[in-house]
Amino acid sequence: MREVDTVSRLGGDEFMVLIEGPPRPADVAEVAQKILAAVARPVLLEPQEFHLTASIGISVCPGDGDDLQSLMKNADTAMYRAKEQGKNNFQFYSAQINVHTLERIALESDLRHALEREEFLLHYQPKVDVGSNRIVGMEALVRWQRPGQELIAPARFIPLAEETGLIVPIGEWVLKTACLQNKAWQDQGLPRLRIAVNLSPRQFAHPSLLQDVARVLAETGLDPIWLEFEITESMVIRDPEHAVSLLRSLKEMGIHLSIDDFGTGYSSLSYLKRFPLNSVKIDRSFIQDLPGDSNHTEITQAIIAMAHSLRLGAIAEGVETEEQLRFLRLHGCNQMQGYLFSKPLPADQFLRLLQGMVPADPMPVSPA
Ligand code: C2E
Ligand code: MG
Ligand code: MG
Repeated sequence: MREVDTVSRLGGDEFMVLIEGPPRPADVAEVAQKILAAVARPVLLEPQEFHLTASIGISVCPGDGDDLQSLMKNADTAMYRAKEQGKNNFQFYSAQINVHTLERIALESDLRHALEREEFLLHYQPKVDVGSNRIVGMEALVRWQRPGQELIAPARFIPLAEETGLIVPIGEWVLKTACLQNKAWQDQGLPRLRIAVNLSPRQFAHPSLLQDVARVLAETGLDPIWLEFEITESMVIRDPEHAVSLLRSLKEMGIHLSIDDFGTGYSSLSYLKRFPLNSVKIDRSFIQDLPGDSNHTEITQAIIAMAHSLRLGAIAEGVETEEQLRFLRLHGCNQMQGYLFSKPLPADQFLRLLQGMVPADPMPVSPA
């Protein structure tokens, strides 16, 4: 327990623990798990070893009561539920918190094993040239396939992976898989395209990022000019000095760099100018209201103009309609991504798209 927490013995084998602070169920659950683990440590009373377990009931203030009596009563009710569940576990009084917290714990524990169980896969979404309607690149997007369940979208597990640090090994798997796949397609003689991989804040801040990227490139044999990283504004804002030097090093390796979800964060002109970027991806929320919403049409036009004056490419995310495409074409947006052209596809389906392409290079593509 922390110094600010209170542990008391109510009598017999009953104890009460008071934890102060914002009641984040996940934190409370972690404390409960620690207590269970501490209690489970064998006690040696010569010549015997004793094994104990505990059952914990949790009530949260406010919500489960505002006074000591109701909080104790509800914690007691929850504790009896923990005993019914087979003891050696904890239960929240609130059914809602209970379900939510237990779901999260299960998700986290599954996520910890997902890499070794090879449950991740990548989908690939084409990036399309607005003028010619040709595929000019692709973005790798991760999905999680838990056995017997629906495919899980990254929004449901990336934040948890980020919070727990699991994003670092998962991100490395994504990078390696994306590079391997791209190299394999190139080796088959298909048109060469750049593959974009999303980096998370935690990956970006990781001290071994540069070495890891260099190692993956060496291991997979992909030429760095065919790799691109998508980063978000918040990642570079946190520590601009570090970001500049990191981005420069990546750029020197030959890797392309773009800013993802642009317009939703700080949208700072000065860092766009300072950082060695190649392109700006206009966030889907602006594109989705084109051309009806006058604010969003103006913002989109302004981002395209700003990108061009800094000699950066402008890419529109989430293009779903012909009207949106027409607007983007009219205003000189360079590339687009979206359901209008294609959803993110599993590798075998993306391969068919590639096979349907006329070679993009004027030079014949020679198989490696
Ligand atoms: P993002 O990088 O901005 O990716 C674009 C998201 O928009 C993708 O969602 C894509 O499926 C979706 N999208 C593309 N076109 C359309 C469209 O026309 N309409 C609509 N409504 N949506 C469209 P997805 O695959 O669910 O990924 C969500 C986010 O999760 C990504 O946003 C990215 O931030 C993150 N993510 C995905 N894969 C990875 C990864 O490998 N590593 C990290 N760190 N983050 C990832
Ligand atoms: Mg992205
Ligand atoms: Mg985006």
